[in-house]
Amino acid sequence: MSSRISDRCPVSGSMGAGAMCPVVSAAGSKRGSRMGPRGCTMSGFAQSGDVHAAFGIPPHVNVEDFLRQRERKAINELLYSNVPSMAEIKEIQNAKGVKSLDQLNVDERDLLAVALGAPARQVILRAEEVGRETGWRDGYLSTEYGFQPPDTSEAPGALRNSPGRVWMDLCERMPGCIARGRVRESVAALPIVEGTAEAIPDKALWAALVALGMLCSIYRYEERHDGNEGINVAAKTLKLKGVPMSDDLGDEVKGIPRSIGLPYVQICIRMGRSIPHLTFFDQSSYNVDYIDPLSKYPYVGRFDNTRLRWAMFGDSAENAFLKGCADTSASFQHGPDAIAACQEHVMNRNNEGLLRELVRLKEILERMPSAFNTISPNDRSGENYVSPAEWVRWAKFSAPLSKRCPATSGLQFPPYLVMDAFLGRKKYDSFLGAEGVHLRAWLPSNLRAFIASIEYHYRIPEYVKASGDPRLMGVLDGVVEAYTGERGFMGAHRYKVFGLLECAGKSGRTETNGASGAADAMRPWEQTHKEFSEAMKERLEPFRGNRDIEPHEMRGTFEECRYRGRILNRNFVDSDPTRSIAMVTLDIQESGITFQPGDRLAVMPMNSWTECAKVAAALGLDSMLEDPVALDRTWTRYADHVGSVSHTNRPRLTVIDILRKGHLAPITKELATKLHTMLRASSNTVLQVLATEEWPVRASLGDLLQAAVKETSSRVWDQAFDLSGNLSWLSDLVPVEVPRTYSISAYSDELLPSTVDLTISRSEYNLCSTFAGNAKVVRNGVSSGFLNPPVAEEMDVLDDEELLIGVSRPFAFQLPFDDTSPVAFFAGGSGIAPFRSFWQSRCGRAWGKTSLYLGVQSREKFCYEAELRQYVNEGLMEVHTAFSRDSKGLVYDPVSRDLVEKEITPRYIDGLIIEQGQSICDLVMSKKQGGIGGYLYVCGSVGVFDSVMSGIRKALYNHRSPTMETAETILKTAFAERRFMLDVFMTPKPLPCNQPTIPLSQLAMHTGHTPDSHVWIGVHGKVYDVTDFCSMHPGGTNIIKSNGGVDCSKSFDLLAHTNNPEVSSLLTKYYIGEMTPKPAYHSEEIGMLYDLWKGYLRAATEQVVASNFEVGMIMESSIVWFQGDLFNMGGVRRFYHYQSRLLQGGFAALFGAALQELYLKLSFTLANSSSSAGPTKLPDVLGIIARAKGSTDAVTASNEISQIGQFTCNSESARHHEKGIITYAQRSVQYDMEFLESIREEACAGMDAFDSIMELDAASETQRIAALSAFLMQVLERMANRLEGFYAKLARYSVFQPEMERNPARARWNILKRKIWDGSFFILTRDASMNALSMSQNYRSQDGVDFDQVISQIEMNLHNTTLASPRNMGLNEQHAARAMNTPSGAPAYEQHNQSNALKAMSTFMNNNKRAIRRLSKMPQAINLEQLMQTYGSVPQAGNGLPTPPSSRSTSRSPSASSATRNPFPRRNTVNDAHPPSNMHQRRNTATSDTSLPNTPAHLSPTATMSALMTKMNSRSKTDNSHLPSPPQSATGAMSMSGMRSMQSFLAQQQKPAMPMPNTSVPAVAAHERSRSTTGSLRSFRLQASAMAGGMSRRSEVPRS
Ligand SMILES: Cc1cc2nc3c(=O)[nH]c(=O)nc-3n(C[C@H](O)[C@H](O)[C@H](O)COP(=O)(O)OP(=O)(O)OC[C@H]3O[C@@H](n4cnc5c(N)ncnc54)[C@H](O)[C@@H]3O)c2cc1C
Repeated sequence: MSSRISDRCPVSGSMGAGAMCPVVSAAGSKRGSRMGPRGCTMSGFAQSGDVHAAFGIPPHVNVEDFLRQRERKAINELLYSNVPSMAEIKEIQNAKGVKSLDQLNVDERDLLAVALGAPARQVILRAEEVGRETGWRDGYLSTEYGFQPPDTSEAPGALRNSPGRVWMDLCERMPGCIARGRVRESVAALPIVEGTAEAIPDKALWAALVALGMLCSIYRYEERHDGNEGINVAAKTLKLKGVPMSDDLGDEVKGIPRSIGLPYVQICIRMGRSIPHLTFFDQSSYNVDYIDPLSKYPYVGRFDNTRLRWAMFGDSAENAFLKGCADTSASFQHGPDAIAACQEHVMNRNNEGLLRELVRLKEILERMPSAFNTISPNDRSGENYVSPAEWVRWAKFSAPLSKRCPATSGLQFPPYLVMDAFLGRKKYDSFLGAEGVHLRAWLPSNLRAFIASIEYHYRIPEYVKASGDPRLMGVLDGVVEAYTGERGFMGAHRYKVFGLLECAGKSGRTETNGASGAADAMRPWEQTHKEFSEAMKERLEPFRGNRDIEPHEMRGTFEECRYRGRILNRNFVDSDPTRSIAMVTLDIQESGITFQPGDRLAVMPMNSWTECAKVAAALGLDSMLEDPVALDRTWTRYADHVGSVSHTNRPRLTVIDILRKGHLAPITKELATKLHTMLRASSNTVLQVLATEEWPVRASLGDLLQAAVKETSSRVWDQAFDLSGNLSWLSDLVPVEVPRTYSISAYSDELLPSTVDLTISRSEYNLCSTFAGNAKVVRNGVSSGFLNPPVAEEMDVLDDEELLIGVSRPFAFQLPFDDTSPVAFFAGGSGIAPFRSFWQSRCGRAWGKTSLYLGVQSREKFCYEAELRQYVNEGLMEVHTAFSRDSKGLVYDPVSRDLVEKEITPRYIDGLIIEQGQSICDLVMSKKQGGIGGYLYVCGSVGVFDSVMSGIRKALYNHRSPTMETAETILKTAFAERRFMLDVFMTPKPLPCNQPTIPLSQLAMHTGHTPDSHVWIGVHGKVYDVTDFCSMHPGGTNIIKSNGGVDCSKSFDLLAHTNNPEVSSLLTKYYIGEMTPKPAYHSEEIGMLYDLWKGYLRAATEQVVASNFEVGMIMESSIVWFQGDLFNMGGVRRFYHYQSRLLQGGFAALFGAALQELYLKLSFTLANSSSSAGPTKLPDVLGIIARAKGSTDAVTASNEISQIGQFTCNSESARHHEKGIITYAQRSVQYDMEFLESIREEACAGMDAFDSIMELDAASETQRIAALSAFLMQVLERMANRLEGFYAKLARYSVFQPEMERNPARARWNILKRKIWDGSFFILTRDASMNALSMSQNYRSQDGVDFDQVISQIEMNLHNTTLASPRNMGLNEQHAARAMNTPSGAPAYEQHNQSNALKAMSTFMNNNKRAIRRLSKMPQAINLEQLMQTYGSVPQAGNGLPTPPSSRSTSRSPSASSATRNPFPRRNTVNDAHPPSNMHQRRNTATSDTSLPNTPAHLSPTATMSALMTKMNSRSKTDNSHLPSPPQSATGAMSMSGMRSMQSFLAQQQKPAMPMPNTSVPAVAAHERSRSTTGSLRSFRLQASAMAGGMSRRSEVPRS
């Protein structure tokens, strides 16, 4: 502990300054530290050594009691320590009268509380005392274990010795029962054992509760997922005959056998749960056993030290998810004790004690987010892997048993509710806030009592504020940040959930466990993200006020710098006389900052005085430096922030504040553009800068103003920079600078460190030629030049100014908890920075080997050599070096433990790694692969990172792997196991802006879902090929892949990646070009269609990715299909759910409302453009889709899936068809993927059309729109045809193929038996065929439909949409609805998209009432009010969208059915037009592989549209002989009739022959380049000579 804080040892309280910590000395300290471990206290922290001996405590006396007793003070000593002086008393007496002197005596409630002891401590002590005797029925709560059970074997042990053993036996058998499809029979077969005290002792209560609760949940789950849900129509539900049920015992156990229902209700009542329920932490925290109860560091319930007691499904996802959640809660093990201790110190007015405990609490909280790493969506992360699909299943399983039960929500985990109370959260208005309050009421009694004890008494934040102690305030701020800040637990949780939900939301998941994020507003994971954000803001409000920005918007801004510090000194760290790298020490005394190895410091830099002077001189502000400036919104926020950090009011910001703290360099495009506008385009230099092809420009605002002031007339200049007003233009022109991040380069075990070391490499760049001409002018980076200026310029900086600083912890760059793990650090140049904190904290303490591999230019630049040598000499670490420009090498000699001089050919770090290959390979390889599973850390520039990776790959190839691919796999595993960590440590590279543009269609094709294919993502107008980064992403490959092929800017913003320097600099490495922007269409209509089609392309691309995720999870693991060497119904069920959802929803994402919306708008456009020439024939896209879905093939395919559903609860017959089922599954998922890919390609072709349409030579916009719409309509029609082809293909295969089974005879016999016994197969086939016949009887494809038929189809679909808005439901209702949700329900994301499309259609129909009426020649008005009622809806499965292929339904075409159901009769309907005898004929285009291949050649939209326009008599002379002939379809009809009107229109125009644009990247790039308006600016001559010379002052400059 720092002597400034207290000279007393935090433990004994009896030590003098400078004395040794008795605990550490007793345990044998490595370096004679005077300190105990930081945060050590009287209890909780696992002290090594003999504490009794250290403090002279008599044996057998409890250490805590002894020490606490010694700390007790007399009531009077505590409460009357601040008695006013007699003079003051006299003053009060005179002012307020004698009676007022009663107030000199303390409040009685205070008196009572002090007399009784701290309420939180009392609750813990009572809980411990009573709990041990009563089986902890009030809830687990103890000093040492917090909310964790002290002994996880106690309750199950007691249950095992009671009749309740039957329940736990069944729990243990459960994964097998599920795999055999025999869960409900097994539950029904249990004997009835009552949950009364006679049968089940108190000690067994917790185990009984968890076992029975899990059994009831799995029973319900099996009942709801028995293969009759979804597409199945057989409805052969299992009937348990003669089994007594619990129907009379309450809604929760209704329909559940009495064997578990009765004891569950009885046990719950004994546990104080008036309505039987399980909490989320019952299922996780209280369902794990400690592997080694003595392995307590840093807490006992770690992932690696727990075993899931009762798994229901028995797969890795369940294991990882539940253990991971248990770990998160377990990491708060010592939190309750720290909180109680805080309260005691507040009562005792002991600021030093409070400081200690707050630091301890902060460290506990800071550790918590690491627990999230235990749940990984990365499929290579071994036992930590949780596949999103199984997470979905978990949500269904854990749904509440009735709508009265509290939800099984993560929000109920005790740490959250406790910390909310501790920090005095006032607002609970948000969705999650309200839920938290509700869930709190259902916590076990001890937990509720504990929360109440801190909420109502001795509130710590209030005490800290009143104390005025900056250390306490600083540490408390750290506690707030660690718990609910953007970089803290809540922030990390929010990002973790976003990633998982995004993956899951696209593949079947409807909402989170806590029911947030239901799909009615934005994308579900965004909605959840927002809800988390609202809850975070509520929590932050008492400390940071009511902020109007989202937490992620604070990232990378000044808001992250919540402390103040000063530069203390700058030291040389190597022999380089220029000190290009320096150790900069900051003074952080009294700030309350604490840090750990690996942490980073954010520093708000200040501009050099020279740069400030340039600006001030040019603007004429040099005599106004102290003048106040009117602030814009961001500067106002900045001023507020400074006030909040310094605990004062908002300070007044002056000219010099803006210049010192604003962004002056490099010049960004925004800055140059703003100046250009202010100067009314009068400065050539500004124009020249704007013409650059690389942003930002390497120069400063000062440089620019210095040049511009000479070129601009004083009138313009004076108007732009008006010195007579409030100078608001200054804060508008100069934005607030952003902080820079530096790895902390030191470890401190002081309670509150007084200094912090940084290793700063000065970044230098050459001033751009616009200003430097041909000279080479070296400039320093803003921050590195400020922190480590060139030695000669050091006088230019003043170090007494306060800096804003902040600390953050990279969770993906941490030392392992386990000190025995070997670690290796790979550093280049100043990349050594974080490793200094690592080696200082680890060496001597850890048993595992510590090695440093360092690459620097020369011996001269070898940083920290003396310190490292000392560590090497002491045998504490190995150091290996590579000098790239120096042959005077150094070699590590393990025998002499020294670094020995040796001549070595200069080499980079990869050479060193290859040389040390053997040992590095051992470190990289996991224990399972035969390696030692070391932890590897890389830090430095991108170049260093590349070099290290290449060295390791080569080393693996040389020593361990047969191919480079295997080497890659080994590396990927290390990343997935989070043993390979990166600190990417660089400034972003300026990016050229003249790169090729990449069309959206090309982006969409790069989803990386097939072997060796690439993953591209689009971010803020740029495209990146992130294939190589996927495996390194800390969140896992799938997180990136879920955004593959699409523009993911929004996710980037929400995840705060956009302003994360690490991310942006890494991205520059993967940049491949610019995203083709939306063309500037003259017509709004094309713009609208563009947006719509873009959305559709996105949906098609995301569908490919999502299906690939799910298919991969189903097909790539043998465990899914076999369990206990037998066929696993788990696999059958998964496949059934996936395929059933796809078929039943009829590929809703692609053929649902989104497509209808497109169809509606295209039809409208086409009808509009041809209205003068009589009725338009349009392709009957919706009809084709509906007929495809209702076709015999679709019904056959659905039947087959339905049969598979029947197996899930009946493995008896499944075992005869094992191979048939697996082969069928393989084939259908392959067809699914092929089909989805083909739809995506079609969508790409449509998208390309939007890029080409501008190139087409059209007489008018109307013609252009018509051509585009006709082409797109053709694409839609082809898609619809493909659906038909898909069903036809699928229908050819059957599950029942006896010849391929292991016992064909039994398989045949089983088929026969099933048919005779069941009969459903025949019935289904017959029914469906009849439906198929009846529904297709009126259709002839080439006829097309009229516009009014289209409208009536859409109208019917809208009309039939059933409405349900989850947001209007109460919480419990929502949870219950989730429980009822079957797998047929569309994924949340799909529902969200459908809902949006429906709304858009309604709006469109409403807005265009008149035109629609005119075009459809309707005799009366459409009742659009009815349509509007569909607003705000989430469509249910099987709603009015094109009818699903379920053979339950009649599967009629909407147009056909509309004839009978439509209240508004239409003329010219299909029914009218074609007599019933016209039978539906399957067209070759849709069903035959040859005429419509699955992966069609990419259509050339330009060519096709040109062809269309040729028909329109335009002048396009494109050779379209190579074009795929459009399917024989109604488009032809439309073209002929529709074009007639355009023909005459276009004939009036004379146009040159149309060129054939090429959509390939270079061509488009050339096109983009030619569009650049700034290209011509290159002709401006350089005016560098005019700018040379001294600094220009506003008044001195001769100006035009
Ligand atoms: C996680 C992390 C840890 C780090 N740790 C350390 C450390 O321990 N020691 C250390 O010395 N450095 C470290 N850095 C780098 C440090 O944060 C700064 O980036 C570095 O000091 C340069 O900042 P500057 O203000 O001096 O340079 P700047 O003035 O920001 O500019 C330097 C160069 O970057 C270019 N540039 C600036 N902004 C942009 C932009 N938006 N787009 C494109 N180019 C741009 C400029 O043109 C110039 O060439 C770390 C970075 C990260 C992300």
